[in-house]
Amino acid sequence: MNRRKFIGLTGMGIVAATLPVSIPAFGNATHRSNGRNGRLNLSYMPYELQLKHSFNLARSSRTTTPDVQVEIEYDGIIGYGEASMPPYLGESVESVCRFLQKVDLGQFTDPFRLEEILEYVDNVEDGNRAAKASIDIALHDLLGKIMGQPWYRIWGLSPEKSPCTSFTIGIDTEEMVRLKMQEAEPYKVIKVKMGLDNDKQLVEIIRSITDVPICVDANQGWNDPQRALEMAEWLSDKNCLFVEQPLPREMLKETGWLRERSPLPIIADEVFQRLPDIPRLAEYYDGINIKLMKSTGMHEAYKMTVLARSLNMKVMIGCMTETSCAVTAAAQLAPLADWADLDGNLLISNDRFDGIKIINGQVTVPTDRPGIGVKLL
Ligand code: MG
Repeated sequence: MNRRKFIGLTGMGIVAATLPVSIPAFGNATHRSNGRNGRLNLSYMPYELQLKHSFNLARSSRTTTPDVQVEIEYDGIIGYGEASMPPYLGESVESVCRFLQKVDLGQFTDPFRLEEILEYVDNVEDGNRAAKASIDIALHDLLGKIMGQPWYRIWGLSPEKSPCTSFTIGIDTEEMVRLKMQEAEPYKVIKVKMGLDNDKQLVEIIRSITDVPICVDANQGWNDPQRALEMAEWLSDKNCLFVEQPLPREMLKETGWLRERSPLPIIADEVFQRLPDIPRLAEYYDGINIKLMKSTGMHEAYKMTVLARSLNMKVMIGCMTETSCAVTAAAQLAPLADWADLDGNLLISNDRFDGIKIINGQVTVPTDRPGIGVKLL
């Protein structure tokens, strides 16, 4: 394990420390015998996620994802959180650390004042959604551990109602697609990234290997509504469940035109971030893809599922490339979703946590672990 620098923020100010090589940054215990000061203590460290394969999308390609790992400690109990920053969302390790430095959780003595704490965090500065999510997730983990319950139980959800999750196949060569399809074998849904000229070829390769349902994410890559409609019609004959973000986010009217004609549901992703963005989308999209790094965490993501349902919209729970920390936190919400796309932890080679498992293709969180359901590896 690389030498890691992490920074702790306390009511006394900023404390920086460098850990010796090969010692896990935050230790393996969820309880600590010291530091019982009756306040929330925030600490964090940059952690670069290494991708198993180059991740190719219609508008970008990369082999790593910047990430910051977060802990909130309260009376010896530790909650884990994470900020993952795919470059297109505009956050970075620097911006997340700068934001976290500004956050003073030491002013709070009762972690159960979730509304008050998260409202404070949201008002520290605009934007910074992944940074805010890291605090939200760690706080949820902490509260669940104090209560001794996983969040699906606290929310009153039935874990067996979690949908099957999809495994993502990015835009790639035929050889690589065939290789990745071997990894996709346990899954009952394949998510195909599209938006380039060889879209149909990619689906044909997958269809030569398996007939499991696919879903398609064009990542705004189809600029022409007529082409998007032709693709949706073609895909509907290929056992495709839905099409995610077919057109650029600005093309709302064109997306509405497409939705009226498309045989497949049209799902919103890049076009929205926060809760107030959702009502206007009901006119143009059939559903939304909720991700913790957009929603600022679990608290607002839960509200999003309720709002989307009230607008008669479909709900998908997705993720970025993340460790099992944020992916398992998102999986606590999966029983509320029609579809899940929670494979971000499987796309990296340096996960820090054990958490979500895929059993018979279904999202499964550990039922015997409180909080978000993760354990340090
Ligand atoms: Mg997407």
